[in-house]
Order: sequence, then C-alpha cells, then structure tokens
Amino acid sequence: MVVLIALLTLLFLGWAIYTVQDKFLQSSSHSLVQAATKAAGKLDMMILGQYRDIQLLSTTSITQHQTPETLTKYLRDMAQTHPTYQWIGITDSHGRIVAATDMSKPSLDRSQSHWFQLARTIAGARILDGQIDDESGGTSAFTLIAPRRSPDGRFLGAIAAVVGVPSLMHLLDDTMQRLKNIAWTDGSHLEYQLLNEKGNVIGDSTLREEGRLNLHQVGYLSATLAGKQAPGFIQHTHPQRGTSLITAYAQVNIAYADPPLRWSILIHVDRDSLLTPIHSFLRELSFFATLILLPLFGLVLVMMKALHGEWEIARHESHRATQAEAALTKRTETLHTLLVAAQTLSAQQDLDGLLHHILHLAKENSGARYAALEVYHDNVHRTTRFLASGIDEPAARAIQTILLNQAGGESLGQENGVIRLHHLTEQWAAHGIPVDPASLVSFLSVSIRSQDRFFGRLYLANKVTQLDLAESFSELDEQAVLTLAGQAGTAIQNLQLLHDSKEQARHDSLTGLLNHSTTLTILAQELSRAQRSHDPVAVLIADLDHFKKVNDTYGHPVGDLVLQEAARRLRETARRSDHVGRVGGEEFLIVAPNCDLNALQECAERFRIAISDRPFDTTSGPLTITVSIGATIWSADHPLNSEHLRKMADYALYRVKSRGRNGINIVPHPDTISAEQLKKTG
Ligand code: GH3
Ligand code: MG
Ligand code: MG
Repeated sequence: MVVLIALLTLLFLGWAIYTVQDKFLQSSSHSLVQAATKAAGKLDMMILGQYRDIQLLSTTSITQHQTPETLTKYLRDMAQTHPTYQWIGITDSHGRIVAATDMSKPSLDRSQSHWFQLARTIAGARILDGQIDDESGGTSAFTLIAPRRSPDGRFLGAIAAVVGVPSLMHLLDDTMQRLKNIAWTDGSHLEYQLLNEKGNVIGDSTLREEGRLNLHQVGYLSATLAGKQAPGFIQHTHPQRGTSLITAYAQVNIAYADPPLRWSILIHVDRDSLLTPIHSFLRELSFFATLILLPLFGLVLVMMKALHGEWEIARHESHRATQAEAALTKRTETLHTLLVAAQTLSAQQDLDGLLHHILHLAKENSGARYAALEVYHDNVHRTTRFLASGIDEPAARAIQTILLNQAGGESLGQENGVIRLHHLTEQWAAHGIPVDPASLVSFLSVSIRSQDRFFGRLYLANKVTQLDLAESFSELDEQAVLTLAGQAGTAIQNLQLLHDSKEQARHDSLTGLLNHSTTLTILAQELSRAQRSHDPVAVLIADLDHFKKVNDTYGHPVGDLVLQEAARRLRETARRSDHVGRVGGEEFLIVAPNCDLNALQECAERFRIAISDRPFDTTSGPLTITVSIGATIWSADHPLNSEHLRKMADYALYRVKSRGRNGINIVPHPDTISAEQLKKTG
C-alpha cells in the first residue's frame, strides 16, 4: 500500500516536473523567437537607413559639384559617423574612382566592375548581396550602389558603399546583450548567426566573422526552416557538440534589394542552460520537499503501521469472537442435547436400568470408546455395582485402579471431583493393562453425586472423533459429563427415595416390621406359593402379656421401647425366609414358610424364649416381659385360607392366655377344634 502510494506520488511528481519543464521551455523559446524577431527588425531598419543614406547621397548636388578632395572628406566624415560603412566610394561617369574613404587606389578604373555596370542601368539605390570586387578588404555583408545623375538624367557616375559584417554583428550583439542579461540564460551558451538565403553564414557570434559556411550542408535544420517559415523555434542536436539545442529563428526581409534579400537570424541556446533555473528551482524544491515529505512519509508510515496493527487486532478479535460464538453455540447444543437425554433418566424405574442408561449417555455424548460406572454402597469402600461398556470388566477395573492410585483418585472421591488426562500410553503400558496401550490416549472421570451424597464414579477412556481419530477430552466434554453426572446423581437419589417411600408404606413406623396389611398380603402370597409347592407354612401370633400394665405403670414411651425391643428380638430370632409383621398394638404375626409341625414347636418356643428369657432395658430400668404364642400350620392336607388360619392361631393364643400366659400352643389343623371354640377367639 505504502509502496503504491510512493510510486503514485513519484509518478505525479515526474509528470509535474515534465509539464513544468515543457511549459518553461515553450515560454523561453518564445522569448528567444521574440528576441530574434526584434533583432531582425532592427537589422532591417538599419539597412533601410543605410539604403536611404546612399539614396540621399546619390541625389544631393554635393557629389556633382565638389572637388575630389571635398568629396573624400565628406565620405570619410560619413564613414566616421556611421561605422557600419566599411568603404564608400564615388566614380565619375567613366567608372574612375573620384573619391573614396580609402584613397589608396585613387583614380582606379571600376568601369568594368559589375556594380558600376549595374549602377549605370538603374534609377535609384540598390542593395547587392556580399562584397563587390575587392574594394574594402575585410568581410562585408552587402553593398549599396546608386547612380549619380544630373537633373536631366545624365549618368554622372556611381556611388558604392560596403557594409561590413562586424557592424551587423554589433547591432545583433546589442540586442542579444539583453538576452544575456536575462537570468534564465547562460551567456556562454548563447550563440547567434546571420545567414543569407542560401544558408551561408554571414556573421557568427562565436566566429565573429563571415565564415561563409553553409549551414544547410552542415545539417542545421533550423537554417533550412528559417528560409521557409515565419519566425519560430526548433529543438535539435548540435551537429558538432552533440548537445540538445533550442534554436529560434526570424527573417530579415530586405525587399529593396535586387533581387530581394531574405536573411535569417538564428539564436541557439543549449536546452540544458535554458532549464538551469528550473533545475535549480527543482533542486531546491526537492530539498524542501524531502525536508517536509520525509517526516510526513514517516508519519504516514507510522500511522499506517498503527492502523494496520489496530486492524490486525480487530481482525484477530473478530476471529476470536466468531470462534467463541461457535464454541458457545456448540456448548449450548451439547448441553441441551445432554439435558434432554438426561431427562430420560428420570423415566427409569429400576436402578439397573438407570445405571445402564447413564453409562450409555456418558459414552455417546463424550465420544468415549470405553466407559465404566462404579456405584458405591453407603461409603466409597464398598462397590455395589460395576458396569462397563466397550471394554471388559477386568480391563475397566485395571484402568480405574491405576487412575485412582496415580492421578488423584482421592479428590475424585471427595468433592465434585474431575480427572481429565491425556497421553497416558506409557502408564497403561507399564501396568500391563489388558487393552491395546497404543489406543488409550485420553481419560475423563467424574464423581456422581447429589447434594451431599456420593453415589459413585463414571470413567470414560479414549475419546475418538467421527473420523475415528484419537483426541483428548475437551473442557466441554468435561462440563457435559459433569452435567450428566449431576442429573444421574439426582435420578439415582430419586429412585432411592421412591424405593424408600415404598418400603415405608410397607412397614410399621414404630418397629420397622411389616405392617398389618403387608403382613396379610405376604401371608396370602406365601399360601398361594405353598399351594403350588405343597410345602407347609406355619402361622404364629405372638401377644405380649399384660402389656397394658407396662403402659399404665411406666408410661406410653416406655411401652413403645418395649414394643421396639420385642420386634427386634422377634426379627432376630426369625429365619431369613420368615416374615415378621406387627398386626395389632402388641400383637405380632409370623409367617414361616417350609416350617412343618415338628419344626413349629421348636420355632414357637424360640420366639417365646427370645422375649421372656432376659429383661428389657428401658429408661425405667430392666423389665421382664413375657409373650404368649398361638400357632397353626398350613399343609396340603389342610389347605385353609388365610383368615381361617389366623383364627386357628388366635384360638391357640387364646388357649395360652387362658392357661396363664408366657407359653405356646399349636393347633395343627381344624379338626382339633370345634367351630364353637374358634368363635371364642373373636
Ligand atoms: P393380655 O395379657 O391379656 O394380652 O393383656 P394386655 O394388657 O396385654 O392386653 P390388652 O389388650 O388389654 O391391652 C393392650 C394394650 O396395649 C392396650 C394399649 O394401650 C396398648 N397398646 C396398644 N398399642 C400400643 C402402642 O403402640 N404403644 C403402647 N405403648 N401401647 C400400646
Ligand atoms: Mg393383645
Ligand atoms: Mg397382650
């Protein structure tokens, strides 16, 4: 840009200099033409003046009446007054010289000379080109002749006046002197010449004499042009010096010559000398321009550089903004996609399904090739589930172990921990991971939490692009997986809450045992199963003895403590497959599958002893509590319904109570009691 401006400026300057130079040359050349024209005019005037002099001289009576001596004196005076005359002479009618400025050759006979012969034939004065005969010596420009005639026209003789070249040159010198004084010319390069019609030099400012050198032949184009055209100028090359010249020319038309003479004045000036002032002006101008322009250029350069810098910064910022916008859009899209996907987590009803869904979402959204999910029990040291995808479980566990040991696994367990690593090839290789080590290049792990609860960790390994190229997990991946982990934590917690509330609905709030309705439902379930398997099912009802007294004596809270402890003891005593429920205030129903009559006796006794054997620790001190247990049994031989069974057991209980309590009674089948007796139990 700067170079372009500099080039344009230089081009403009070049054009301006050329134009100014050209105009200056034109104007100077025209001045030269004016000078030449003026000189030509002066020359013309001078020649006319001399012509008139001779004309006058030929007609004055003096030439007719004076003695040769007087005439000679007259002519000498005339020559003295007008130094242009090189020689003036007067002949008699026979051509003999009677008087002359130069009397070295008195009485010389000029009757045969051309000019005398011509003078005899003409009426007035006439100008002849060049020198006539050898009258004057030296160089002459032209000769004026005139006949002397008597008033009646008789030829008395002739007058001849030779005008010298130096005198013409003097006249030109005067004019040229003015040019020399003009500042734009250099005198040493100003030359001028007077040419005749044929192109011969009449006078030359440098030779100072008539060389009669033919300039046409020498090759002066100006000499040819001057003969043909009106005043003008031409630019050409000096034939000898080879320098460039401006030559102005003008014509001196001497019409009263016979034949008319047409001379030319040429003024030559070296073109360079004409341009000297403008060159020196340009030098000064360029000096000042440099003085002003250089700092200006510097300033422009600095400004342009600064602007360029600003522009670069702006471009960079805009690029960054575009990138940031793209990244933000991608981030928003990713997070939105993830959020929508994560919302499907809440639709999962069972924990296993939920965990598999979390694993799948994390793997798909992060672009990981391998994924694993570890779920803890209440504390981080007990893993309850371990799921892997894209990798077998031993390999996933090996990766997990190395990561937790080497890369800050502690922090992962503590807070909202994140581990993001790449280029782990050496580590994998060193630990003999059963996965192609070269393909394991990146790793991302986050903890799954909800509020203050810590559920587990999500492990993602080896991110791959769509083109299947390995790359590192980005910050965006990290945020996406963290978001997912947050959603997963909430989903797990919600599922657990749901599970807990379901469990609560099934249990008695005071003792934690199955509640009344659940116990009856389970009894029905066990009975229907027994109907299929034909295995016996024992049903026991345990009722604390004189429990009202406990309440009455120690207060209701102590009664509650006794109930809780009794429940705990019954639960402890029961087998894993037994179901213990609280069906009344201090009444418990025990459903014991696969318990036959023989086992029932012992089983019922075990329950009784569990209560009665050792006192209950309460806030009011140790209390001895006893229990009465009535039991019956379902068998394929006597497939009673649940209500019937409960009545049977109640009857057995009634029997224990009525016999004094703290005992057991078994009614093995309905045949052993009458309907009346059953009714008694109420
Ligand atoms: P028996 O030996 O004949 O069974 O006599 P009992 O006093 O144990 O039986 P009764 O049916 O007369 O009294 C049962 C008492 O249990 C009455 C009631 O106040 C008490 N009870 C019922 N539910 C609760 C409870 O949740 N907490 C406490 N503290 N007492 C309860
Ligand atoms: Mg009772
Ligand atoms: Mg009771």
